Amino acid sequence: MSYYNNVYWEKIEGGSLWLQYCLDCKRFIFYPRSMCPYCWGNNMEWKETSGRGRVYAYTIVHVTSLPEFDKEVPYIYAVIELDEGVKIPSNLQECSLEEVEIDMPVELVFIEREGKKIPVFKPVQRDAC
Ligand SMILES: [Zn+2]
Repeated sequence: MSYYNNVYWEKIEGGSLWLQYCLDCKRFIFYPRSMCPYCWGNNMEWKETSGRGRVYAYTIVHVTSLPEFDKEVPYIYAVIELDEGVKIPSNLQECSLEEVEIDMPVELVFIEREGKKIPVFKPVQRDAC
């Protein structure tokens, strides 16, 4: 695993989502890498994200070719657009198949698989009126 992925996963293990931020073009970057994909510079630092965003796109997975996911179907595979402007492929948890919709506010949570934390998202709790 590369240095960049190590930092990412160490922060996840610590319970927060950090991403690289390009100091030249002032943008967050996902996935971790050695060069900014926008300006090709390497003047980047790591910053903690809010862990909040919205559902940018989603699909409901009913069939998987991976035996490890057999017990998970049906599940919601979603692209989350973080408040920081970055799109991250992930899963939605604590969300019924009927509830999910484009632009739904979500927040970061973690699930555990094989002893490792995995970042996923769940709907932001709506306040009771
Ligand atoms: Zn840049």
